[in-house]
Amino acid sequence: MPLPRITHKRQFVQGLLIVTALLLPFVTIAGNPFLRMDIAGMTLFLAGIPLRIDQFYLVLLVVLLGVVSFLLVTTVLGRVWCGWLCPQTVFNDLMDVVTRRFKTTVPVSVVRPLEHLSALILAKLIAFNMFCWFMPPGQVVTDLLHLSDHRFMVVIFLVMTLCGYLNLMLIKRSFCRSYCPYGRFQTALMDAGTLNLSFLEETRERCVRCNACVRSCPMGIDIRNGFQVECIGCGRCIDACRAVMEKKPDGLGLIGYRFGTVKGTRFRLGNITAILLLATLLLLAGLIWGVITRTQSVFAVQRVATADQRRLPDGSLAQPWRAIIGNRSQASQVYSLRVNGEPTGGVELLGQVHDIEVAANQHREVIFMIHAAKNAHLPGTLQLQLLLNERPQASVTISP
Ligand code: SF4
Ligand code: SF4
Repeated sequence: MPLPRITHKRQFVQGLLIVTALLLPFVTIAGNPFLRMDIAGMTLFLAGIPLRIDQFYLVLLVVLLGVVSFLLVTTVLGRVWCGWLCPQTVFNDLMDVVTRRFKTTVPVSVVRPLEHLSALILAKLIAFNMFCWFMPPGQVVTDLLHLSDHRFMVVIFLVMTLCGYLNLMLIKRSFCRSYCPYGRFQTALMDAGTLNLSFLEETRERCVRCNACVRSCPMGIDIRNGFQVECIGCGRCIDACRAVMEKKPDGLGLIGYRFGTVKGTRFRLGNITAILLLATLLLLAGLIWGVITRTQSVFAVQRVATADQRRLPDGSLAQPWRAIIGNRSQASQVYSLRVNGEPTGGVELLGQVHDIEVAANQHREVIFMIHAAKNAHLPGTLQLQLLLNERPQASVTISP
């Protein structure tokens, strides 16, 4: 019985990937995007959790986790990333499917124009989708429709569309073959148990030299010549060889995926994979710990540089200060400020120090005065507290 076709599996995975990439920007959790780098709000949303850019260590952990886990996938699955998951391959494969369909359903004279039109539509869709990873999709549509107000954005959109179109119609897979450094890089990350696609040497003598594997290869290589850095591990040659060999007595193909390079090798943990797995787990644990223990309120105070302290007509002293309050929780909060510690002996805070409402995941600045009565003594340092529901959230020591 023929084995399930690799091509069907690959197309299923790629279809899933395209649908996920198109729909994920629309998914929200408790009103927050599931995954987005919100440029305007300088906030990375990860599984609906907002990480503001000022929580830099968390954003850095996310980036490191992404890089290390990508390397881990590389050491385990090898070039399968290139042949199954890389956007460059996914969209080129999609264009191949569309073009094949045109060739069998429409007159030859309109195949090429339809191909150009499909590439253009796909390039626009890719450009739109890329914007949606940085802005709410509704806002992307609104901004692009009001081009006179968002010329810069429209220009970027058009440039991205043009690049995508040229990529799909001109560059195609030559990018993987000649420019992408990942193949060379991946070769350096090969481990004892990395998944490889190869011509199975132990059955070489059964090859009928039909060249079906070569004809099916989108990279134009002959896998019978051994490992080649251009091979993207797509598995088309496996299907092509199986289709030929299944008519033979034992029906088995001569090309296959295998972990490592020795016949019958199953997955085993090589040194590089083990190190990357450990690093991935540590970074993941660090990120979870960081998210759970991060403070929900940010509080900073600075003197208003443009205004001096003033002696008021009653002899008291007023010093202008600025407080910056950040609310990292998922709901709007109402804060207040107070002087902490010993009785303040005529020193008080005036201005907007109560009922300071800060929207979810936003910052707000308020100006207030440190007021010292006529005969009061301003201490060398003063501790100011940020309160939420009368409970201290953070404090700052200043020198008035
Ligand atoms: S040799 Fe096989 S797996 Fe490699 S790119 Fe060609 S068809 Fe794909
Ligand atoms: S498809 Fe299989 S049998 Fe035909 S040339 Fe390639 S490896 Fe040999």
